[in-house]
Amino acid sequence: MYDLVIIGAGTAGMTAAVYGRRAGREVLVLEEKVYGGQIISAVEVENYPGIPKVSGYDFAEQLFKQAQNLGAEFRYERAEKIIDQEGEKIVVTGRQEYHARTVILATGAKNRPLGVEREEELTGKGVSYCATCDGAFYRGKDVAVVGGGNTALEDATFLSGYCRRVYVIHRRAEFRGEARLLEALKKKEKVDFLLNCQVIALEGEDRLSAVVVRQTDTEETSRLEVDGLFIAVGQAPDNQAFADQAALDAYGYIEAGEDCRTKTPGVFAAGDCRAKGVRQLTTAAADGAVAALAACAYLTERSA
Ligand code: NAP
Repeated sequence: MYDLVIIGAGTAGMTAAVYGRRAGREVLVLEEKVYGGQIISAVEVENYPGIPKVSGYDFAEQLFKQAQNLGAEFRYERAEKIIDQEGEKIVVTGRQEYHARTVILATGAKNRPLGVEREEELTGKGVSYCATCDGAFYRGKDVAVVGGGNTALEDATFLSGYCRRVYVIHRRAEFRGEARLLEALKKKEKVDFLLNCQVIALEGEDRLSAVVVRQTDTEETSRLEVDGLFIAVGQAPDNQAFADQAALDAYGYIEAGEDCRTKTPGVFAAGDCRAKGVRQLTTAAADGAVAALAACAYLTERSA
């Protein structure tokens, strides 16, 4: 029986593990893939207070070690459902069941697909969602990045260090990402901007060889020969499996207040999976702390 079972080993989940262990609680973190969450693919993080510059990978690695050294247990299994049984929570994974007094949902959000035909088929064959993971495979080649947020701007900056040409394809003329990143990117000679443009088709037999782009204002289409397409069009949550315990909003995010409590006593939500206005590394860490402390308070109340 664990005091806290945390679902998701991103920044929110691992911060919750640190706080849970420091409060002397038995903590299990369940992670479907690898620890780190979304930050692992950030080239550089410059907005975490007190750390002027760190790679996303190093940040995640340090946080993982911190949680592990404090005694948090990590297991790599996908949590498939939670059964609420007389106050006790049973977390069911593909392999087994874990019994918990409280559960913290820190499931984050996943890369949103572009929604273009053949996207899934060509993923790993020219289509990628992670420039830091796959960028080195495109050394000296031509690539495109689609999206207008910070991720797209950072990906394009990173890829301009490897690739011959980087096309930034964005569906509007204004970028959502930070002006500072955009200004730096505009200075790079290898980078071209295709604004008011949408990718409408992917071409290539075994691998991606070109994308078809449509100008949104004129409807004109053109073909762009590229070896890689990096999709950076935001994230989407994946919480349907927990909808019985935690109410979801229209977009699938978990409805929980700033105290991270869901509609089910003993079930908390932390980080990007929670419905909220700002999703940043700092807010994920903050949620992890709040959720763990709320879980500890719940345990204390119940034992009183
Ligand atoms: P985002 O800010 O939500 O931006 C997604 C972009 O994709 C938007 O420009 C959007 O266009 C575009 N888009 C969405 N669906 C599309 C579609 N179907 N076709 C074409 N374009 C589409 O996502 P993000 O860049 O991944 O960033 C997520 C969060 O992480 C943000 O809060 C961001 O600030 C943060 N972040 C921070 C850092 C950092 O601080 N270093 C780095 C990376 C990310 P529209 O603009 O037209 O909606």
